[in-house]
Amino acid sequence: MIKVTKFGGTSLADAIQMRKVKDILLSDPDRHFVVPSAPGKRFDNDTKVTDLLLQLNSAVEFGKEYMPIYEKIVDRYVSIRDELGLSVEIEKYLAEALKEIEKGAGAEFTASRGEYFNGMLLADFLGWDFIDAAKIIFFDKRGKYDNEKTIEAVRAELKKHNYAVVPGFYGSLPDGRIHTFPRGGSDISGAIVAAGSNADLYENWTDVSGFKMADPRIVKDPKTIEYVTYRELRELSYMGAGVLHEDSIFPVYSAAIPINVRNTNEPSAPGTMIVPIVDREEEEDKRGITGIAGKKNFTIISIEKNGMNSELGFGRKVLSCIEKYSVPFEHMPSGIDTLCIVLQDSKIQDALHDIVDDIHRVCKPDSIEVFNNLALIATVGRGMKRQVGTAATLFGALAKENINIRMIDQGSSEMNIIVGVANSDFETAINAIYKAFDEKEV
Ligand code: ASP
Repeated sequence: MIKVTKFGGTSLADAIQMRKVKDILLSDPDRHFVVPSAPGKRFDNDTKVTDLLLQLNSAVEFGKEYMPIYEKIVDRYVSIRDELGLSVEIEKYLAEALKEIEKGAGAEFTASRGEYFNGMLLADFLGWDFIDAAKIIFFDKRGKYDNEKTIEAVRAELKKHNYAVVPGFYGSLPDGRIHTFPRGGSDISGAIVAAGSNADLYENWTDVSGFKMADPRIVKDPKTIEYVTYRELRELSYMGAGVLHEDSIFPVYSAAIPINVRNTNEPSAPGTMIVPIVDREEEEDKRGITGIAGKKNFTIISIEKNGMNSELGFGRKVLSCIEKYSVPFEHMPSGIDTLCIVLQDSKIQDALHDIVDDIHRVCKPDSIEVFNNLALIATVGRGMKRQVGTAATLFGALAKENINIRMIDQGSSEMNIIVGVANSDFETAINAIYKAFDEKEV
């Protein structure tokens, strides 16, 4: 069995964290490949090494004093090395990198050194091989990730190693220059290594024990999601849940590799399993729902026209008025004579009046009403397809709190019920829904 592990910045912020990582890795011989981030924050006001590196590069580029920033970076790595009793000549390597930066190597090269040096230290600490990601992760000349070339290279390289460290976040361009993924991109590197090694499991180790059923800033002590399917995760992350973003794990999605989100500071907690499909009974959720997520600040344009359902092309005409202003629509629930379009405020900018004018002109409706300050809440659960009463529990919970529902949309997947409520009811509504389903738990 092959497990690929990725550790985030807080999991590798200092020697204490590195020791935890080593214990985790060595406790399971199936954990063959590890993808580290750069050292992250050790405490609240600390600065991530990646941010220090970017500051260093800007200071060099703008001709400002940069040695104090450089010293801070050296300090982070030297203290890890010394506290772990390692012998890597990190000062020498850092000095070589600084020379490159001074010569104008650029922000991407500079930022990538965060994971490069951390990977070097980790490999030494574990006694594992070190593989420079620039040798196996590739971008095309426009900087777009080249999956085909990469997977082939990763596969060929990993065959040569039993246990190895591959630094996250970067790869190389066709001309050999370093290129990075977007911030947080070590998740992508980990997913690539998992896909390329045909892993049985991709473990993503961070500083939380998996995903919560609702945002802990809104609901007190929400339960952890044990199992979530790829599709549910997509729905939840789209609605703003702070979970792994789909873009960051697409390589494992296409290879259908399960992902386990774990906590380096609480390694005994099972975390959350993200699976392609649920096929065992113990992976079924007993509550009927998997999670609740939501976002504020939407607008509904509600259009009424007698006989709308029989007017050929009506929906298309409405949508073309919105498309004209390059505004994507989120939802479009409809009745016989009514149609609602839900738009995200941040994407409308100042086009709302023009859109409404155009709909009047092109579609000739009987009336148009616009509702602002709307929040959308998605209650997501693969189990709701088979369970009776999910909608009743959800709507009952909101009615009990006297919350007016402005819009309802159930996706055709029958895995998600979305309600629109006033922004001001957002937190109360999420708490009410969470409580209602939590009480239902069997
Ligand atoms: N170190 C990079 C960042 O801070 C990448 C990562 O941690 O995933 O964004």
